[in-house]
Amino acid sequence: MAVQTVSGQANTILLKHVTLIDGTGSPAKKNMNILLEGDHIVSITKRNQAESVRTRVIDLTGKTIMPALICAHAHLGVLKGTSVEASNYTRKNILDQLKKYERYGVGSVLCMGTDRQMIFPGFRDSSKAGLLPGARLYSAGHGFSTPGGPPGGSWTDQLFRPANPGQVRAEMDSLAALHPDVVKIWLDDFGGHSAKMKPEIYQAIIREAHKHGLRVAAHLYYLEDARKLVDAGLDIIAHSIRDQVIDTGLLNKMKKNGVIYIPTLTRDEFTYVYADHPDWINESFFKSSLEPGVYEMISSKAYQDKVRNSPDYKSNRHAVEIAMKNLKKIFDAGIVVAMGTDSGADPVRAQGFSEHQELELMVEAGLTPLEAIEAGTRNAALGLKINNQYGTLEPGKKADFIVLSENPEHEIKNSRKIESVWKNAAEVSKGPLPDQ
Ligand SMILES: [Zn+2]
Repeated sequence: MAVQTVSGQANTILLKHVTLIDGTGSPAKKNMNILLEGDHIVSITKRNQAESVRTRVIDLTGKTIMPALICAHAHLGVLKGTSVEASNYTRKNILDQLKKYERYGVGSVLCMGTDRQMIFPGFRDSSKAGLLPGARLYSAGHGFSTPGGPPGGSWTDQLFRPANPGQVRAEMDSLAALHPDVVKIWLDDFGGHSAKMKPEIYQAIIREAHKHGLRVAAHLYYLEDARKLVDAGLDIIAHSIRDQVIDTGLLNKMKKNGVIYIPTLTRDEFTYVYADHPDWINESFFKSSLEPGVYEMISSKAYQDKVRNSPDYKSNRHAVEIAMKNLKKIFDAGIVVAMGTDSGADPVRAQGFSEHQELELMVEAGLTPLEAIEAGTRNAALGLKINNQYGTLEPGKKADFIVLSENPEHEIKNSRKIESVWKNAAEVSKGPLPDQ
């Protein structure tokens, strides 16, 4: 890109001749001029404006700008290489992962209930404020599951696991003191392998969270659990409903209650897709997102045989088919769909790649590319309640955006053509593949 610095000490930046996708769902606007000052957008106009001598001018003819993506369901500090464990939760590993998200154009991520004490309050607050490198880290703190139930392993040893509703109040008080962005609960029998959280417990969690002004997001799988949770006042469904096609009764209730829906389609696709040898498995855009050793693992015969011979193979594929049907129905009902992926909770759910793959799967489910982008920007910002500053590109909003070499308006794969990533009105990355 041609950079013209009119004066050495620029405090404003003018991006000229931009094709703009602003994240509101509006069609791309051609030949726009975007004026940045400090960390935010001052104006977006079609006409040429007077440039002060201190304005740095960047000609972006032929380039498209869209808001930085926001992932409303992710996990940080869980993975390292092919391992998933508590000892991976280090400041350095979390920062490395936040930087990876950022290279992929993901400007903010919500870690859904697996954070550990270490990041509170300083690290999380600094990251949210944009004072640390990488994507901004939002957090659900420590989530709520069942005693001895999944998700298990050392990386979930800080979850609350109330045995009775009486325990919930004190646990919620301690969580609320960390100022989480949402409260995460797990309601699932994990394929029939474990007992679900009892209704009186999740009802207490939702009630106590709401007393603190906190919203509750649920891991769930089954339609009937979604119905019960929505009846109990649930705010966010954090995975697809994957067993049955949703009915009008629940659609209406979700709409009326303003429930936000996060489909995490990639999470389910990754349970089987590597055994299908998808075209993208050898693309650098995918491989660059993987932890060391993961490519070797997923491309090995042993791994692929394990996937194909798994007793869950058929049901995993079926779950994605149902999830896609439900996404389209839920979207068409006017319910807010926010992009989230569950990336970072398993080595096969690569951080950064997953978010672009999720947009593509949303389009496969029947959304237009602009609708999928809106889910990954404006709506995800609503999910994190940060839409006053992020998610759309408008005057007054923070200047967190991606510069693309191709327009994704009619071809969602173009969201991957990242030339640079900007945060607080400054270029912070040349994307995941800077040499290409
Ligand atoms: Zn998750």
